[in-house]
Amino acid sequence: MSELAKPRMTAKDRARLAADRLKALYPAVSELEHRNAFQMLIATILSAQTTDRSVNAVTPALFARYPDAAALAHANPAEVEAMIKPTGFYHVKAKTIIAASAALVERFHGEVPPRIEDLVTLPGVGRKTANVVLGVAFGIPGFAVDTHVKRLTRRLHLTKSTDPVKIEAEVTKMLPPEEWTGFSLRLILHGRRICLARTPRCPECVLNDFCPSSTVRAKGGRRPLTATAASVRLGHGRGTVRKRPGRRPGTRH
Ligand code: SF4
Repeated sequence: MSELAKPRMTAKDRARLAADRLKALYPAVSELEHRNAFQMLIATILSAQTTDRSVNAVTPALFARYPDAAALAHANPAEVEAMIKPTGFYHVKAKTIIAASAALVERFHGEVPPRIEDLVTLPGVGRKTANVVLGVAFGIPGFAVDTHVKRLTRRLHLTKSTDPVKIEAEVTKMLPPEEWTGFSLRLILHGRRICLARTPRCPECVLNDFCPSSTVRAKGGRRPLTATAASVRLGHGRGTVRKRPGRRPGTRH
């Protein structure tokens, strides 16, 4: 029986099919450049309310000057502010990454702990950041819910909730743990390139034959991968959407 011949797809069916389709299109990667868990943690905190491209533009110099938690914990705030200024909200972000580094030194011997229960105790680190760090830096399954994941999981009718914690709980019940990190990272990439917030590019989307929010419908079966969708390639910052002003960084996210 074809995917579309099923009488009614459940949310779990859609989650699994979406995970498979997106797997064929995107690698499971973060576009934040990093070399270790500490860099991934700091880059993720800096990525609040800005693009990965702007974070990647400042982190090489930042990490060259402050290579580990011990160095950043004792940094001059004004100097850090000047280095991260292009990422926006630089005053509160500088304060947050210095405080997070100090907490790593004081409570975790300067290392990033590989447990969500510990990560969320760090200044500026909520479940989203913790799940990204767990999945990308440690290879430990984590389903991070950012603005793109929130939008796509709702458009795919995997959830009705707008609460990231509930979305994480619901979607992780639909997929095996080994799929969590990859699905989250790929939803983010798909949200940046195809399922845009204001005008989703449904005719180019590989999910458009079963997505309940699709503005197009394929007749008689699965819509083939279009040339445009097939040609989607990764590129740092390319096609990213600048996040709209909203919650200030420094709050947990
Ligand atoms: S079909 Fe449209 S609404 Fe659904 S995931 Fe694709 S781009 Fe988004």
